[in-house]
Amino acid sequence: MSLVSSLTTKLPKVGTTIFTTMSQLAAEHGALNLSQGFPGFDGSPALLALVEKYLRKGFNQYAPMTGVQPLREALARKTEVQYGQGYHPEREITITSGATEALFAAITAVVRPGDEVLVFEPAYDSYVPAIELNGGTPVFVTLDAPDFAVDWEDVRRKITDRTRLIIVNTPHNPTGYVWTRNDLDQLAALIQYRDIWVVADEVYEHITFDTYNHVSLAQHPQLRERTFVCGSFGKTFHVTGWKVGYCLAPAELSTEFRKVHQYLTFSTVTPIQYALAEYLNEPEHYKSVAAFYQQKRDFFLRQLAGSTFQWKPSQGTFFQNLSYQTKVPDYELAVRLTKEIGVASIPTSVFFHQKNDHKLLRFCFAKDEETLEKAAERLCQWPGFVS
Ligand code: PMP
Ligand code: GLN
Repeated sequence: MSLVSSLTTKLPKVGTTIFTTMSQLAAEHGALNLSQGFPGFDGSPALLALVEKYLRKGFNQYAPMTGVQPLREALARKTEVQYGQGYHPEREITITSGATEALFAAITAVVRPGDEVLVFEPAYDSYVPAIELNGGTPVFVTLDAPDFAVDWEDVRRKITDRTRLIIVNTPHNPTGYVWTRNDLDQLAALIQYRDIWVVADEVYEHITFDTYNHVSLAQHPQLRERTFVCGSFGKTFHVTGWKVGYCLAPAELSTEFRKVHQYLTFSTVTPIQYALAEYLNEPEHYKSVAAFYQQKRDFFLRQLAGSTFQWKPSQGTFFQNLSYQTKVPDYELAVRLTKEIGVASIPTSVFFHQKNDHKLLRFCFAKDEETLEKAAERLCQWPGFVS
């Protein structure tokens, strides 16, 4: 008899993420992988050279717990340039191991057993497990197709005395919806007199299109004082594998955030932080990202003209959703398109706790033109039904 009793899972609903599943399926079938969100190209040679420079200069030991000073200072300047907001580099900016860590640390800093956390869904997959590991209960506010705008009346109804935190994601993965100033005002009005904190996942802050502009929660005076703004360099500089992110939050919140971060990872990869600090000194490096991706979105959509899919151009992020008419569930279609025509996508039902199926597939267009052209060509050949 084994002396070890069986381990009771703390996350009974969690399995392998859809991103791993679809990327593996794409690899098995040699499909073009437009599923998991990562660029199909490298970060700029100048940025890579900076990493090499700092590696060779011997910046290879632990960074300070809060992040290296030049990076915190560069982020303070970027936030000032971009949002006209000052965050103190010593007390209000913390560098993390990806936005994933920042989100987890912020949620952990706030949520206690019994607390309710409002989550807009479809939702990025890391929020709910982080809430549940802290004993909190997610309360879902569903965004409805086709626009996925926020129903503020629904938010008002779902706020209770137990609501401790609201998680906002703008620009939004997977819908591409970009929150407006009005959205921020509505949120601020609803929580003004309550002890409710906000985690703002703004990892796609530099990727918005057409007339849509990212409005950071940092820019809203009432929200700023109760918000942990989480960002990631992975999205902005095409280096998702580096896993370097950050959290901007008022000093009182940052103090609590750091207590968690200190024991989650303690600190983040040193030479890359120095490289990013130097690279950030040129604002054009992050200001040019929106136009770069808009060109890719437009290219992809032009190539899809004549397909049976329908779409609304994405407002932001590097994802485009395509809808289809046939009754087959989105998960099944995503798998079949991967195997049968060689294009992998993400079924958007996975981002809903009850797997709401809007017959919508999410495609990542952060790829070179050749890949996008080939993928679109294959998607155009799909007749719009399955046999
Ligand atoms: N939030 C959202 C909405 C994302 O799409 C991602 C990217 N995977 C993350 C957080 C995580 O960012 P990072 O890779 O920096 O941990
Ligand atoms: N954020 C990426 C996406 O939405 C995936 C990140 C991951 O694989 N965990 O596709």
